[in-house]
Parts: sequence; C-alpha cells; structure tokens
Amino acid sequence: MDNRSGLSVSIDSLLGRKQSFMVAVVNIDHFRGVNDRFGQEYGDQVLCAFARRLLSVVDEKDVVARLGADEFVLLIKAVNLQALESHARQLSRQLDKPLELGQFPLQLGASIGVAVYPRDGDSVNTLLRSAHLALYQAKKSRNDWCLYREELEQAYIRRVQLEQRLRQALSLGQLTMVFQPQVDHVKVVYGYEALVRWYDEELGQVGPDEFVGVAESSGLMPALGQFVMETSVREFSEFVGAQGEMRKLAVNISVLQFLQPGFANDVLSLLSRYGLSPKQLVLEITESLFISNFDDVLAVLNELRKQGVRVSMDDFGTGYSSLSLLRTLPLDELKIDKSFIDGLLDDHKVQNMVASIISIARSHQLELVAEGVETEGQYLALMAMGCKLFQGYYFGRPAALSVGPKPPTNSVSSG
Ligand code: C2E
Ligand code: MG
Ligand code: MG
Repeated sequence: MDNRSGLSVSIDSLLGRKQSFMVAVVNIDHFRGVNDRFGQEYGDQVLCAFARRLLSVVDEKDVVARLGADEFVLLIKAVNLQALESHARQLSRQLDKPLELGQFPLQLGASIGVAVYPRDGDSVNTLLRSAHLALYQAKKSRNDWCLYREELEQAYIRRVQLEQRLRQALSLGQLTMVFQPQVDHVKVVYGYEALVRWYDEELGQVGPDEFVGVAESSGLMPALGQFVMETSVREFSEFVGAQGEMRKLAVNISVLQFLQPGFANDVLSLLSRYGLSPKQLVLEITESLFISNFDDVLAVLNELRKQGVRVSMDDFGTGYSSLSLLRTLPLDELKIDKSFIDGLLDDHKVQNMVASIISIARSHQLELVAEGVETEGQYLALMAMGCKLFQGYYFGRPAALSVGPKPPTNSVSSG
C-alpha cells in the first residue's frame, strides 16, 4: 500500500498519456464511531481488513494508497469513460459487503468520490481536489458514490463562503431565535419550538437547513449549539416568566452537541439558572443522529431524561430506521414530518401512513405532534384520525417572543 507521495509518483507517471484513468477517494463512514466504541486496537484491525478489501477490488496494475486515518485512494489505470458510472457503482457495492473480522463480520459503509483524467483534472492536485469535492457530495447521503461534475465547484464555493460568514456571525452575535407555537386540540398554545435564523448582509437570509449542516462539518456546531440553547432558554424564560405559565420549549439538537463533554450538566444548570423545570424542555433529535456513537448519545439522553427532560423524534417517518429506533431509544414524543401532512388530503397512501404513525405513537405511549399543518382541512382530518397536538403556519408562524402585555386568551388566531 502506498502513501501520498507514492501515489503522486504513480499519478505523475500517467499524466500526458492518451489513456484515461480514474482517481477514487474512499472514506469509511463513521470510522471514528468504531474507534470510540470498540477501541483503537480493533479500529486498526478494521483498517487492515478494509485495506485488504480495497486491494482485492482493483487489478494488479492499479494502486491503492492511504491518505489519512480512514481515507484511501484508488488509482485505476484503465477506465472506459462510457462505463464510468457502472464501474463506480460496482466499486461501491463491493466495499459495502461486510468485512470478515475475527468471529463477527462487520458492516461498514464507505463513501466514494471519483475524478477522471483528463476531464476532471490534469495534475495530482486537481485530480485529488475534484475527487474530494465528489466525495463530499457522496458523504451527504452516506455510503454512496459520486462522480465529479462542474456544479460541485459552485456548491464548494458556497460552502466555503457560508462557513466564513457563519464563523463571523457567531462571534459577532448576529444570529437570532424565533419561536413557533405548538397547540393542543382546541388550538391552545402549550409550547414553542425554537428555530434559529441568520440574516447575512452579503448572502441574505440563509435557512437553517443549509447552515446547520455547514456548522456540523466545519467545527462550528458547538458554538452554534450553545448559542441556540442559551438564547432559547433565556428568551423563553423571560417570556413565560411574564406569562407565569408552565409551557414547553422544544429545541433542535445536533448529534455533535450530545457528544460534547458535560452537555447534560450544562443543559441542566442553564435551566436552573433561568428558573425552568427540566420537564419544560423537549429536545428534538433526528434519526441521522443515531447512526454513529449510539451508546454515547444514549447515555446522555438517559441522564437528561432521568431529570425530566423530554426527548422528541423529529421528522418521523422520513429516515431509514424509524421503527427499529423506537425499540432502542428513550423517547417521549414523535413529530410526523411535514411531507406527510402535505399529502394528507388527497393521497390515500399518505393517509394510511399517517394512520400507522398515529397508532405506533399510541402503542408506544408517545406524544404525537403533527408539524407543517397549513390548512383547516389538514387540522380537521388529523383530529378525526386521533392526532391531538399540532404545529404549523395555520396556527402560527415562527416569530420573536415579545414580552408584552398578556393577550386576553391563550388561543392563537387561525389567520
Ligand atoms: P424542523 O425542526 O423540522 O422545523 C420545522 C421547520 O418547518 C421549520 O423550518 C419551520 O419554520 C417550518 N414550518 C413549520 N410549520 C410550517 C408550515 O406550516 N409550512 C411550512 N412550509 N413550513 C413550516 P426552518 O426554521 O427553516 O428549519 C428547518 C430545519 O432546520 C428544522 O426542521 C431543523 O431541522 C433545523 N433547525 C432549525 N433551527 C435549528 C436549531 O436551532 N438547531 C438545529 N440543530 N437545527 C435547527
Ligand atoms: Mg424540529
Ligand atoms: Mg421536523
């Protein structure tokens, strides 16, 4: 197996020829999780087994090199440009098979980014860069492969820009929180979901769907997560303090926050500093969270739940393993994803799925919130099906919580 400089020599020797060749960067998904969970010695065995697998899927004249801890490069010398996709797909399939390791086979995923000479680069650096851009795209869906294409450049530039501006916005305190009401079956507000907002002078309004991912992949998540938690708790406590009521605050949490040392304690002391009961806090988590470091996350969740904090599974029904997670995770609530609510009134299949989710929640004794409810029709249909908690534009849009005079009733207008 080569290292980076060996690889450079091999690539260099092929440049200038007519023959196309392929550079595939391969990254093991969640390798850190393997190390954290089973120890470094086992991690090393996994790397060796994976390297053997790589050597077995290429021809003798091809090159396998290791670039970083869990990152490898395949240099495949003879490629047929027409068959590139099927080549990459086949590679991905072969790397997907369980590794033979001692007594137990280990199922690992790997993501692959592919660049081709001369189309995607004409030097060692440009080829590796193109392959890495493709890898980044492949990683977004995990366990996948992606061929380099020009649009990835735009996406890359945007990401770099977002990262720089976000870093600055966080240090200058330019992000804000808004709160969307959650209502019960008679439209009385019982809680709020905190949602982060970012308006940047150059980029305009950037949605959390986009920048939370950037924060996660660039080391900014601890700062963003801390801002979200502290600001939400402070603004919410000022607001409910003024109203003198026991309402709930839901906060979206990213996996990386659970893995920060002291997270549970920080949350609990924050709540007590602002005079909130742990029972008022709902942590919204998404399924992707549980693919890696499962045990670590579980321990933190259990610690918080012991103190009364509630845990909600966001976007339920959209992930891969919703059902199996119900068995293993300590949960108090499910949120039916908006995509189901969108199709509710005119799609029978969606109706059946919503009915199934409602009965799953019931049989597991979980609260159920329907999110993204936009019309009276959706609200009435959900009520008829037995759903009792709601969130959506029909009841109220996300907005700043203002500590004004108390409104005459608790119910929100349905305008
Ligand atoms: P989510 O947690 O599922 O939040 C619900 C999203 O649906 C919010 O989008 C909300 O504004 C939107 N929404 C609510 N009701 C309706 C409706 O009736 N119609 C439509 N069209 N949309 C509705 P938003 O604020 O853009 O957030 C998107 C996602 O970004 C969130 O999905 C959440 O996953 C993430 N996010 C937002 N704020 C935070 C945060 O503070 N921390 C973390 N880690 N993630 C956040
Ligand atoms: Mg949410
Ligand atoms: Mg959601």
